[in-house]
Parts: sequence; structure tokens; C-alpha cells
Amino acid sequence: MSQGQQSPRSDQMVVPIEVRRIDGREWWLWGFAITVTLVLTFGIVALTFPAFRVEEDSVYWSDLRDWVRGLAALVLLFDLYTIYQHLQLHRIRRQLAQRDQLFQLISENAADMIAVVDTEGHRLYNSPAYEKVLGYSAEELKATSSIEQIHADDRPRVLEAAEKARRTGRGERLEYRIRHKDGSWRILESTASAIRNAKGETTRLVIVNRDITERKRAEEMLAHNALHDGLTGLPNRALFLDRLQHAFARSERHTSPYKLAVLFIDVDQFKVYNDSLGHGVGDELLIQIGQRLATSLRGFDTISRQVAAKELEASTAADTLARLGGDEFAVLLDDVQDPSDGIRVAERIQEKLKAPFQVNGQEMVISASIGIALRTAHYTQSEDLLRDAEIAMYRAKRAGKACCEVFDTAMHSGAVHRLKLETELRKALELGEFRVHYQPVVSLRSGKIVGFEALSRWQRPEGVVLPGEFIKVLDETGLILPVNRALLREACELLRSWHSRFSSEPPLTMSVNITPKQFAQPELASEIGLILEQAGLPASSLQLEITETIAMGDPERAGRVLSELKALGVRLSIDDFGTGYSSLSRLQRFPFDTLKIDRSFISNMDKDAEGREIVRTIIVLAHNLDLTVVAEGTETEEQISQLKQLDCELAQGYFFSRPANAEAIGELLAKSYGGQVTVLKG
Ligand code: C2E
Ligand code: MG
Ligand code: MG
Repeated sequence: MSQGQQSPRSDQMVVPIEVRRIDGREWWLWGFAITVTLVLTFGIVALTFPAFRVEEDSVYWSDLRDWVRGLAALVLLFDLYTIYQHLQLHRIRRQLAQRDQLFQLISENAADMIAVVDTEGHRLYNSPAYEKVLGYSAEELKATSSIEQIHADDRPRVLEAAEKARRTGRGERLEYRIRHKDGSWRILESTASAIRNAKGETTRLVIVNRDITERKRAEEMLAHNALHDGLTGLPNRALFLDRLQHAFARSERHTSPYKLAVLFIDVDQFKVYNDSLGHGVGDELLIQIGQRLATSLRGFDTISRQVAAKELEASTAADTLARLGGDEFAVLLDDVQDPSDGIRVAERIQEKLKAPFQVNGQEMVISASIGIALRTAHYTQSEDLLRDAEIAMYRAKRAGKACCEVFDTAMHSGAVHRLKLETELRKALELGEFRVHYQPVVSLRSGKIVGFEALSRWQRPEGVVLPGEFIKVLDETGLILPVNRALLREACELLRSWHSRFSSEPPLTMSVNITPKQFAQPELASEIGLILEQAGLPASSLQLEITETIAMGDPERAGRVLSELKALGVRLSIDDFGTGYSSLSRLQRFPFDTLKIDRSFISNMDKDAEGREIVRTIIVLAHNLDLTVVAEGTETEEQISQLKQLDCELAQGYFFSRPANAEAIGELLAKSYGGQVTVLKG
């Protein structure tokens, strides 16, 4: 609270009201004593002076003696009373002096700034803490009015509160900024208490000011940390969603078309940088990406159309850009007229990100996939818009690197479907609805079944669902791990039992497919080793099928994992060969034993010479690398005879057998054991 003028120091303080009251009481006492003494003296004189004597007899004199004695006793009594009162006053005075001393001690030593002001706001006293906290000497304080030092924005509030305290005698807790001598702003918390006179009127205010600058800063820092990302300093998801929600409310007030768009930016392959170069480099890269996004957005502000000045201020780059976590950033675009505006900004962001980054002396080139969602009337929650931008980003990722996609309703229904599927898959796992089917692998040389591929089936009450519809979601949700663990256990135990029923040389093999999530599992090799041990199956009878895309994703890591698996003694197979982008020579460095030609090539074989030529080339190259070749999806006799001519060793397909359950395959084995395979049509 402010005080108009500089005060004297405490030793010159105005006499406290109690002291004045005591002084008054003392004057009254002395006046009374003198009056009584005068009256009594006059009485005694009157009684004893001869002129007043009415009769001169002995009775009169003896009465007079009694009167005088009586009056003298009264005087004595009264004097005793006066002395008693005087001692009382002396005691009170001493107590007051002690209280004064205490007040002085407290106020002089308190860290809080204590001021006493009169009803006009003139300072009567300022404690020394004023000088310590605000840096001004007593003389400097005297020369200035503290209202001048108060922040202009806070002044009206302070004056109003001071006025109210004067009027009502009750001060409110108040926070305001005041200038330190060094020019910085300190934040004070102030409370005022009224001193009232005997009539109950406020005569003074005692104001206690506390410097809460550090506390405020700490609070602000905590609040900032709660709403900002620690690494880049950008707003975090919570703050972004809050701003987005405010932007929703703002756009509702506009009658003209006023739309919002959210851009969801995800750095492509960031994990590769992070894992291979270390998290320190990854962090530095993210900081630089954040900075570049911020500077590139600042440029875009100028393309904003007619936005009210205040709103424009509220939508500066720092406000509209956020880091959502990991390598994900989001941008809120105000005032977009149609999807093309969002795409334009996304493309410019991608353009800006193209320039190489310099991190730790290394040059890095990155790209980003961007999903765009435009706010339409049906969005009421900011989370929904951000979620849809994320869905669009995933679509952009799938379309290839450095793409951008605008969210549409088909994506929404896709996302809803996906969510439903996830829930149903979790339930299916609980209910044990996953089954294993087996498809024979046949030797084209001997015509005998040499092994099987284990394939998942989802047995729903309404029918069987094929893996194409659920494997990817199972993998992405991580549910694949328990499902395939169970599959592997069942397949290994089954093969073990077939080994004892149908002995052959080499023994029958079992192939199982490995998904990206499984491949990323650090304990994959040890888990497989344990299952083989428990099933009592030789490792060489198990074949793991890995697609080339998985193997080439992170070649270094893939090499490590494949060597670990190989060390178990299992066989490794490249699945769906030809559908990825890798060449055989690049796969050469991995310890594969078998190559499975994708069925798309096999189905083209008997259509034209070119198709056949491709299959021939793959087989020749695979043989050069000492790989056994399996032809997938063989459906016709023609394909089989051509594959035999090309010296392909193994084949799998409907021509021989569709995948079927263990019982059916057991029967097939029993029938075919020792003879040609009968074609099973399922
Ligand atoms: P894949 O490993 O390439 O498996 C071969 C797929 O081709 C199977 O489809 C099989 O039914 C199908 N197929 C076999 N012969 C023919 C044929 O002559 N013509 C045609 N048109 N198709 C044939 P399915 O069972 O639908 O599995 C699809 C893919 O799902 C598999 O491809 C595999 O990558 C994956 N998958 C299936 N089950 C599992 C599993 O339990 N775990 C993992 N990780 N992946 C699985
Ligand atoms: Mg396979
Ligand atoms: Mg395959």
C-alpha cells in the first residue's frame, strides 16, 4: 500500500494514543487532588478562624476538634488514593515503554517492510527494511513518493485499496509491483490494519509489505514448467490444447468464415538418429528443429489475414507452436480459409526443415510427416482436433516420408474402426479366440511334405478372420507378443509330437512369422530358446520368417538380433521376398538360410515370360548366396512344373494344401507320409 510522504524515523514518532490517554488521566488526578486539598483547607480555615466563630464555648471547641480530625483523615485518605493512582500510572507507562521498545525492535529487524500512515496517506514511519528491500536510502525515500515507484498498471488498484482501507478501516491483501533502485521490479504483498481512536474512528494504518518476488518467480517457474516442454521451452501438449480451446471460443465469436487448423508434425526416422547417435545428439536435434519451426512460423504470421491486433498478438509463433513429446510438434493456425492454406504452411515447414542441421559437428538431414486437421462445426473439444491431425499424420507417414495429409471423414471412420478392432482383439485374447493353422511346405524334388508354416486365425463366433485384418493392429498394440508366444509354444509342441509319429530325414520343420514388434523385443532370442527347450524340440527344426523390411529397417541392430537367433541354432528365412526395396546383395550380410519368393511373383509366372524371368533371376541369385528357395502361393500345376525347371527346392500354396488346423494336417500327414501329397481343398 502506498503512503504519500516520507515519514520521520521511529524516534520521532507521534505520541501514541495510550500515552495521551494516560497523560489526560494524570492531569485530571492532579487537578482533582488540588481541588480537594483547597476545599478541605478552606474548610479547616473557616472552622478555626475567629471571625467565623459563632459561639465561644467548650462544646464548640471539642466539636471543632472532631471536625478537623475528620477532615485531616479525609485528606490523608485522599492523598493515599492519589499516590496509589500515581503508582498505577507509572506502571502503565513502563509497560507502554516496553511495548514501544518491542515494536521498535520488531519493526527495525523485521524482513517485512512496516509503515505507519495517517488518514491522509502521509507516512509517519518506515521500517529500515524499506532500504534493504528496495535499495533506497532514507533520504532518497524522503525525496520521492512511493506511488511513483509503483508499476503504472498496479497504481489504480493500490490507490483504490488505500482509499478503502482509510474509509472502512479494513485493509485487503494486495499484490503489486514496485521499482527497486536498480530499476528491476519487486513484487510486494501488502496488508493494512487500522488503528482507531476512542470513538472508533480510524486515525492511522499500519501497513506490512512483504517482498514476495522470489516466491512469485518460483511459482511462475513451476507454472511455466507445468505448461512447457523442458527441452525446447515450447508450450507442451496441455498448454497447446488449452490455447486451442480458447481459439475455438474465439472463432465462435466471429461471424465471418474463421477457421482453425492444427498441423501435427512428426520427424521421420527420428528414432534412428536417437538410437544410433545417442540421446544427447537427439535432444540437440530436437531443440534445433523446434527453433527452426518457430522461426519459420514467424514468417507465416505475415500471411495471416485480417485478425484483430490483440488476437494476432496472442497467436505469435511461440504461442501456436508446441512440442507434444518425443519428436512430435504441433502448430495451431488461426484464420485459415480452406485446406489449401494448411497444406501451404505444411509444405513450407517441410521446405524449411530440408536444410541440413549441424549437431555436434555432424550434418544431419531430416524430413517430417505432417497431418492437418481443419476445425469444422462438429468439433467442440480441442483434443478431438489434435487427435484427427495425428491420424492424418499417420496416414502421411504411410504414404512415405516427408508427406502431408489432410484429415477427412474416411480417416475418422478408419480410426473408429481401428479403435473398435483394438478393443475386440484384447477381448479375443482374453477369451482365447486365436487359433493356429498350418500350411505344408512341400519339396519339389521329392514331392514330400518337409515342413509347415504356422499361421494365426481369429476364431470369432461369426466366422474365421484372416491375419491380414488383424496382425498389423496386434503388432502395433503389442498384443502380438502374448498371441505369438502361445502360437510358438503350440506349434513347437505339435511338431515335437509329429516328429515322434512321422520320422523323416531331415526332420519336419516349422516356420513361424516374426513381426516388427517381436523383432524389437530384446529378450526374443532367450524366449524362443526357452520355448524350444520346454517343448523338447531341436532348434534346427524351427524356422523364423522375417520380412526384408524388418531386416533393413535398422541393419546394424537387425544383424545383431539375427546373429543372436542364429546362435540358438534356429533357421532364418526372408519372407515375402521382392516386396521390399532391398537387393539380395544387401541381405547377404545377414545369416539367412532360406528365401521365400512372394506370391505376387509366382502368380505372374505363368502369365508372361517377364514374370517367369524375374522368378528365375531371384532363384539363381539366391542359389549363388547358398539360400534355399521356397515359392509362396503356388496355385497351379503349371507354376509347379516351371518352378521345378528353375530348380526351386520348395513350394507352399493352395496347390498342395490350404492352411488347416492341426487335426486336418495330422490326417494329411498320415495319408501322405511316405507318398505323394494329396491336395487338400479347404
Ligand atoms: P505369409 O507369412 O507370407 O504367409 C503366407 C500367406 O499366404 C498366408 O496368408 C497363406 O494363407 C497365404 N497363402 C498360402 N498359399 C496361398 C496360395 O496358394 N494362394 C494365396 N492367394 N494365398 C496363399 P495368411 O494366413 O492370411 O497370412 C497372411 C500374413 O499374415 C502372413 O504372410 C504373415 O506375414 C502374417 N501372419 C499370419 N499369421 C501370423 C502369425 O501368427 N504371426 C505373425 N507374426 N504373422 C502372421
Ligand atoms: Mg510367412
Ligand atoms: Mg510370405
